[in-house]
Amino acid sequence: MSSFDVERVRADFPILHQEVNGQPLVYLDNAATTQKPNAVIDAISDYYRTDNSNVHRGAHALADRATVKFEAARTKVAEFINAPEAKQIIWTRGTTESINLVAASWGKTNLKAGDRVLVSAMEHHSNIVPWQLVAQATGASVEAIPVDATGTIDMDAFASMLNANVKMVSVGHVSNAMGTINPIEKMIAAAHAIGAKVLIDGAQAVSHWAVDVQKLDCDFYVFSAHKLFGPTGLGVLYGKREILDAMPPYQGGGEMIETVSFAGTTFNQLPYKFEAGTPDIAGVIGFGAAIDYLNNLDREAASAHEQALLAYAEEKARATDDIELIGTSANKTSVMSFMLRGAHPADVGVLLDKQGVAVRTGNHCAQPIMDQFEIPGTVRASFSFYNTFAEVDRLFAAIEKAKMFLL
Ligand code: PLP
Repeated sequence: MSSFDVERVRADFPILHQEVNGQPLVYLDNAATTQKPNAVIDAISDYYRTDNSNVHRGAHALADRATVKFEAARTKVAEFINAPEAKQIIWTRGTTESINLVAASWGKTNLKAGDRVLVSAMEHHSNIVPWQLVAQATGASVEAIPVDATGTIDMDAFASMLNANVKMVSVGHVSNAMGTINPIEKMIAAAHAIGAKVLIDGAQAVSHWAVDVQKLDCDFYVFSAHKLFGPTGLGVLYGKREILDAMPPYQGGGEMIETVSFAGTTFNQLPYKFEAGTPDIAGVIGFGAAIDYLNNLDREAASAHEQALLAYAEEKARATDDIELIGTSANKTSVMSFMLRGAHPADVGVLLDKQGVAVRTGNHCAQPIMDQFEIPGTVRASFSFYNTFAEVDRLFAAIEKAKMFLL
């Protein structure tokens, strides 16, 4: 058992203290979205109460205050992932939009017929479909790096796929469906050795440990604020400066331009070149508060607590008849995906919800890997640092009850 003071952090998350279907809520759907601490909720409501104004172009005190807070959050995120400059942090609507931005802007400029984009077989749909769209437009191909029965990337197969036609390797840092931590350091080095660029989908990684984009040396790193204790509808695209500078705008409109005329329009500098229109100002400021919150947390202890919860839950699962774990890689974050033999995952989810236990069921937007395993989906319990061992016990008690109805 860990020494992390879970009761102290739970007090920061108001949503956890409620009953669902007559039972205290057990929230185990953290891979879908994490809950928000009071500090984030307060920062958003304070912004609307006191500072609400448009950023960058206002000539008054409120606009100045909003702009300062908005840009301070960008700096906080840059420092959080150790980006060299704040201007390398582009605000998007989420991981999905960040990948679409790179696929549309970098992809359409740099890919041609015969080029290859490699993604892993366990990617989230948002790291497959944007590449398929750009492949259709350019004649490039999208190929899947094989994943074995434990949910681990086959590194020999990956090595054998690399050749001079591979222009982009786009892989998840962590699988949302199974929690597998991919060996991205090795993959980045191997891809760079043949001249390919690398995008890392960090949506499921940033909430678990400190990411250092300079140490990783990836070309792009993307994630969503809502999976990092911040608001929904906001994401981050980090990119290497020289690559972002060379990329054309993704969307046109206000803010992303320097001058507009019918004779020809010139574009703004980074990061604004990629931020057309009024951004999610309240979301960005709320996200800044989430980063502050995490910076004040003992993140190593938080992560150790999550790993202890996972080990405890998986030990219980292995001791429970009729549970089959899906994704048994040696290197995992705190995601436990499983099948209850003979039962459809959706039915299990409904029966757990009736007992106040919130999990995710289905293919987790990772249909190709579910098809490979020949399953319709899984039940996924994903733990965050505010979860407790008693909640894991509640999950297993609820599974036992569900078994009485289903098996
Ligand atoms: N990539 C991974 C690994 C994810 O887990 C998710 C969300 O579940 C996404 C991408 C998409 O994130 P968003 O819906 O916030 O854009």
